[in-house]
Amino acid sequence: MTPIPDRFAVKFAPMQVRFGTPAAQAVAEELARLGVERAVVLSTRSQEPAARAFSVAVGGRVVDVFAGAAMHTPVEVTARAVALVRALRADAVVALGGGSAIGLGKAIALHTDVPQIAVPTTYAGSESTAILGQTEAGRKTTITDPKVQPEVIIYDPALVVSLPVALTVTSGLNAIAHACEALYARDHNPLTSALAVQGLQAMLGGLPDVVAAPDDLAARARTQYGAFLCGLVLGQVGMSLHHKLCHVLGGSFGLPHSETHAVILPHALHYNAAHVGAALAPLEDLVGAPGAGMQRFARQLGAPMALRDLGMAAGDLDRAAEIAVQNPYWNPRPVELTAIRALLGRAWAGEVAE
Ligand code: NAD
Repeated sequence: MTPIPDRFAVKFAPMQVRFGTPAAQAVAEELARLGVERAVVLSTRSQEPAARAFSVAVGGRVVDVFAGAAMHTPVEVTARAVALVRALRADAVVALGGGSAIGLGKAIALHTDVPQIAVPTTYAGSESTAILGQTEAGRKTTITDPKVQPEVIIYDPALVVSLPVALTVTSGLNAIAHACEALYARDHNPLTSALAVQGLQAMLGGLPDVVAAPDDLAARARTQYGAFLCGLVLGQVGMSLHHKLCHVLGGSFGLPHSETHAVILPHALHYNAAHVGAALAPLEDLVGAPGAGMQRFARQLGAPMALRDLGMAAGDLDRAAEIAVQNPYWNPRPVELTAIRALLGRAWAGEVAE
């Protein structure tokens, strides 16, 4: 077990987290408990049919569906959604979807303070954090504010069954990335490490079963529980190089969120592994060498291996490395331009992370 330090602090927002009840029923119960009468359901365009069916199943406390949520929470989408919430005099939002729908719910709460119910359908983990990433004129910024933490989270494995297998794998690796970086975070503590290890066990153990049988509800429930734990630690401690690189590649080069996490994670782990003492030992027990072992796990599940396959141009690698070393997040190994450029070059070409 991690030694108990003399001093440490944990911060938990007041939130209600429910597992297992059919989500529509759980949402109806939670809306009643909160005294909500006029909720708006949020989703992306592609999940609009699911969101409309879900709203009908929840019943009379839902007054409308806003299906314009988009990756990285563009501020102009938020402005339209806030206008709708105000026009309808809505008194809650229910975000059905992945980090995009949940991010929109958070942004609306920031402006209006309405309570949020998050019903996650991916493994990204945004629902468990008070962090909001937004984009304005192509620039992504991140804020942390207790107002954006959803008050209620409802996990229903039946809602993740429709997540395509490729996205299941990359989204699962996105969750795994939170737990890996939590293990060596500067502000980690025994509790966050315990949560991270259990999150890794659930995710690394459950994902192969989900890939083998995507409608296996028990395996989906195990991975959802893992995603919850990985999201919780994301909200507790600071993230390092891996998240910084993904932030740069998504925010400045438009690369897809979870796929980028999948490609970068083994390379970032290899970059840091020799500089974190025994912090990654629990990960080594599960996958072997942090870089190559994680890459082998991802490859076996069919994850993308190369940034070039995600649409990154070779000519952008120098600029990406330069942006990544500006205002770096704290990292256990110094973040140096030459080494980061080399890391990105290997990740671009899909080379082995060792
Ligand atoms: P997403 O929400 O953009 O979903 C990806 C696509 O899959 C979308 O088209 C969506 O409609 C579809 N989809 C989602 N669930 C589905 C399902 N069950 N069945 C069928 N289709 C489904 O992707 P994501 O990876 O969950 O979220 C990425 C976003 O979340 C990014 O903007 C990222 O910055 C943010 N994020 C924020 C935090 C935080 O703490 N603030 C944490 C993680 C991710």
